[in-house]
Amino acid sequence: MVSRGLLYQVSTSSALVEGVYEGAVRVGTLRKHGNLGLGTFENLDGEMVVVDGHFFQVRSDGLANEVGDEITSPFAVVTHFNPDLKVMIDDCPTLKDLYSQFDQLRHSDNFFYALRVDGHFDSVLTRAMCRTKEGVPLVKAASVQPEFEFSDLDGTLVGFWTPEYAKAMNVPGYHLHFLSNDRTKGGHLLECSGTRLRFEIQREGNYRVALPETNDFFKANLHRDTSHELEQAESNHA
Ligand code: ZN
Repeated sequence: MVSRGLLYQVSTSSALVEGVYEGAVRVGTLRKHGNLGLGTFENLDGEMVVVDGHFFQVRSDGLANEVGDEITSPFAVVTHFNPDLKVMIDDCPTLKDLYSQFDQLRHSDNFFYALRVDGHFDSVLTRAMCRTKEGVPLVKAASVQPEFEFSDLDGTLVGFWTPEYAKAMNVPGYHLHFLSNDRTKGGHLLECSGTRLRFEIQREGNYRVALPETNDFFKANLHRDTSHELEQAESNHA
């Protein structure tokens, strides 16, 4: 017996760490593979947030704009979201609490999971990548990213939990992006606190990776273990 959920991913996190930022897939193609997800855009031009089949770009000013099919991405993960489980959580004072709530719902460290949280957030801290030249290592690119603090707003978190064994392919552990209900603000989630939150989770037992047929991906040296650098680039340094 195997799980039915299917994750569709373009490129690998190692390639992203090595600076492979050339657009490899159109949003129009991603749309066919999922209605929830996250990623980035060509040349790291902001954060991708996919909610209910709408694709948003959060640029380095923290503002979200819906994008059309022609925009391209070097790295993205999407899924058709049909949650196995919905749970209301009354109080989540920190992101760590939010993670431990999801830990209760996961039942295993060995599957991928797609995640969604809706509700009221007292505070949300996000960041967004700045447009970067091809080949600049992710750690260097991530060192100049602006952060944004939003308070007292309704919104949605979307993202994934990735098993440790898949760390060359994707960010291990939790990775979430935020979008406000009015669809104007968002970014890569660094911290949050909220009340009356609806948690939804879907186990993903199928994992499909489409590798970019771009010059940069052909030539990139992907032998190194980049998980340390990835963690440095993705986590909250504060
Ligand atoms: Zn992110």
